[in-house]
Amino acid sequence: MKTCLVVDDSKVIRKVARHILETLDFSVREACDGREALDACLESAPDVILLDWNMPVMSGMEFLQALRASDIASRPKVVFCTTENGMSYIRAAIEAGADEYVMKPFDRDTLESKLQIVGLA
Ligand SMILES: [Mg+2]
Repeated sequence: MKTCLVVDDSKVIRKVARHILETLDFSVREACDGREALDACLESAPDVILLDWNMPVMSGMEFLQALRASDIASRPKVVFCTTENGMSYIRAAIEAGADEYVMKPFDRDTLESKLQIVGLA
């Protein structure tokens, strides 16, 4: 089963993402900030990470940098989530190692197409 780690400080977003991903046959874990996400990756690397940008404790960008600096054996694909207001962050996220991005709020078809682009749907 494919695995996805949903990283977002919004419980509502995590819930919506989990529901969509489960209908796409993913096994889902959740983290509410970058720190929790890094711990989860060190424990067991997921196939793909759905990553929020603005989070307390450790942001999406800080997480990407920490992930790159870590010695995780298999590198997860990263789909970065942003809002229309956050368009300027997309380039920075891609440069920091994100593979794709998705605009919030996203629906099932949009998320599925982004997962297809990174080779996981
Ligand atoms: Mg957030």
